[in-house]
Parts: sequence; structure tokens; C-alpha cells
Amino acid sequence: MHDGHQIVSVEDYEQYVGAETIDRIMKKAKPLQDLHTVHVNSTYYGGGVAEILSSLVLLFNSVGIKTGWRIIQGSPDFFSITKKVHNALQGGEINLSELKREIYEVAIQENAIRNHLDHDMVIIHDPQPLAMIEHFRKRGPWIWRCHIDMSDPHAELWHYLVHYVEQYDGVILSLKEYKRKLKTPQIFFQPAIDVFTIKNKELTDDEIQERLDHYDIPTDLPIVAQISRFDPWKDPKGVIEAFQIARKQVDATLVLVGNVATDDPEGHEVYESLLDCREDRIIILSFQDSALVNALQRKADVIIQKSIKEGFGLTVAEAMWKGTAVIGGNVGGIRHQITDGENGFLVSSVQETADRIVQLLKDRELRERIGHAARENVRKRYLMTRLLEQYLDLYNSYETAYKIRRKSIIFHK
Ligand code: UDP
Repeated sequence: MHDGHQIVSVEDYEQYVGAETIDRIMKKAKPLQDLHTVHVNSTYYGGGVAEILSSLVLLFNSVGIKTGWRIIQGSPDFFSITKKVHNALQGGEINLSELKREIYEVAIQENAIRNHLDHDMVIIHDPQPLAMIEHFRKRGPWIWRCHIDMSDPHAELWHYLVHYVEQYDGVILSLKEYKRKLKTPQIFFQPAIDVFTIKNKELTDDEIQERLDHYDIPTDLPIVAQISRFDPWKDPKGVIEAFQIARKQVDATLVLVGNVATDDPEGHEVYESLLDCREDRIIILSFQDSALVNALQRKADVIIQKSIKEGFGLTVAEAMWKGTAVIGGNVGGIRHQITDGENGFLVSSVQETADRIVQLLKDRELRERIGHAARENVRKRYLMTRLLEQYLDLYNSYETAYKIRRKSIIFHK
């Protein structure tokens, strides 16, 4: 990173991944220098996908691949339907009426008119923009990157969506266990974090304290925190219950911080439903403040991510990177990041969560051992360079085929 600039480049990662990895990435990017690619999703902030794209898109450009990022627009109606679709893909219910399909399909068609996607590679993220593919003549591969745990989707909904999914040239899922029966080839990329952002970079003790003071978060007692969109799948109620059980044995402060993404209309309702639980030592904040997230993940004695379903759970990697002990729900991507008892704890109930909070708060050495192993795990497996390299491998595999085709088109002219 240059002085005075915050734009990250792939070389910045050398200190964590070594020169050999950086050289390998540069070599893989070389044959792709003339590519123009684009990522499409439905929100600039508030959720893991936006978080990943904020960094990944810049990194692609830093290795010489022209990469854009488009956001689809939609009415509250549209986002209310796409959130229902999101929930139903995770196993929830949906009444997939004719009217809902119409609202979805018309909004997508409008977005397709506004966006001119004639790139060499188009990567569509999650179900919101999925149907865009209907409206374009492909100039190169189209890839659907789904970040959701789709191991048990609503059957009728899946039947409707599969028509779109199978028009893609490839599907990227976070984990092998999310694999579906599809004609389209499927590959698996776990997400990753950018350690140079405001959310993840090193902070001084003063900077941490300043952020916590700003929100009147007391630091006289140990801090237990969960940082998550206000969403029932993140089980904020379960976190409060577990804390209330744990505090009978150890004194601490619970902090829940959440934001509301523009494509998530449920957030406000969930936040309001928690407000009755607020008290001196149970602080519930709804703000988008990346420096606060960073400060809290560093200062907390225990970070919880008690999800009931979780495609991956970037908040887990973020907290582990900061050397903080994490208690995570034993689901989806969290169970891939945490090895129980080694670099964190996996839990399946409120009681188990409470027991682990007590155990960790009472044992500083345990917290340090777990925190140290956690950071090392993220360094080895969850840095953005690993994800970038997986994409480069994928692009290279397509490029060979497409170059041959492009050449033959020129030849026939
Ligand atoms: N996040 C944030 N502020 C909040 C809550 C969440 O910046 O108040 C960020 C969090 O740090 C993480 C992302 O949103 O980078 C959430 O990603 P995750 O994969 O954990 O869950 P998702 O929201 O995508 O289901």
C-alpha cells in the first residue's frame, strides 16, 4: 500500500502469504490481461457478498484484469420477494404466486435494459440478479456465484430457479455439501477476508477505546459480542438467552451490533423485536460502522456467531483474524472455519453457548491459545489472495476454450 493511499494491491499480501504465492498469482493473471469482466449483485454494503466484492474487484484490477461491479436496483416489493427467496433457499417457506414471479421477472428485465453486459466474463451473485441471464446474448462465460446454504431448498422454488441456473456456464458454491443435481458444472470457493480494510486492519488501543466510548460501550467488565445483520437466521434472541444464563456465573457486558442491508427488508423488524431486552449490560446497536466492528472484534473477550444457517459467515473469519476466541453455531461455513476446541468452539444450543461463554471468560490462557490458533487458521486459509487465485484458475480454464472460439470467429470473417 502506498503512503496516503488505502487502495490494496496483491503485493500487500506478501507479508502474510510469501513471495512465491504472489509470483504464482501474477503468472496466472498474465494470460488474462486483455479480459474485461463484471460482477453483479444487489447491495453495496451490509452483508458478506458486498464485503467480499469491495475488495475482490479492486484486487482483480490490481493484477491487470479490468473488473467492474454493478448493483441491480429494485423496489421494496422486489427486495421483499428476493428476501423470501433467500429464506426459502435456506429451507424456509414461500408462497410463490404468479404475482411474485411477475414482480421479480419485470424488475430483472428492467435491470437488464439498464445494464449492458457484453463482458468477457459475467459473475452474477446470489438469487436476486439470477434471472438476468435470460436477457443477454453471451459474449463469454456467465457464472452464478451463490453464497447461500442451498443444501435443502424449498422444492417448488428450486424447480422455478433451476431453469435460470442451468443457463449458466458454471456455478460457484461455498461448500461441497451445497452441491445440487444440475446440468451445469459446480465448483466450490470458500469466501475470504481483506485484512487491510478499516474493518480488519490493525488498530491502536486508543483507536479501539475511542470507538467504544463513542457508543458508550463500557469496558470495565469482559465483553461478549455478536456482530450480524438483524436476521432470525443469526439467532440474536438465542445469543441474549445464552448471555443471561452465563451471567449467573460470570459478570460481563453483551453487545449486539447489526446493520440493515438495502436488500434486506426484514432487518428493521428483527431489530425492533430485540429492543425490550436492552438493559445496562445488554447493548443493542443498529449502525453501519466498520471501525466499530473492528474495535469490538478486537476488544471482545468472546465473539459469538450463533447462526442457525450460515452460507459461510465472514464475521467468524474476521474475528478469528483478530485473535479473538469465537463461539459459532455448528452449521454451514462456520463448521469449516472452526475446529471445535482447537481454534474456537462450535455450539448447537443456547445452553452450550452459555457454557462456552462461562468457560472462556474464566480462562484467559484458553482464550489466548484459541485466539492464536484462530489467527493462524485465517492466515493459511481465508485471505483474499486464495480466493483471487481460485478465480484466476477458473478464468484460465474458460479462456483457453473461448480464445480458440474467438480465433475461429475471426478466421471465418
Ligand atoms: N457487518 C457489518 N456491520 C454490522 C453487521 C455486519 O459491517 O453491523 C459485516 C460483517 O463484518 C461481515 C458482513 O457484514 O463482513 C456479514 O457477512 P456474513 O458472511 O457474516 O453474513 P451475511 O450478512 O452475508 O449473511
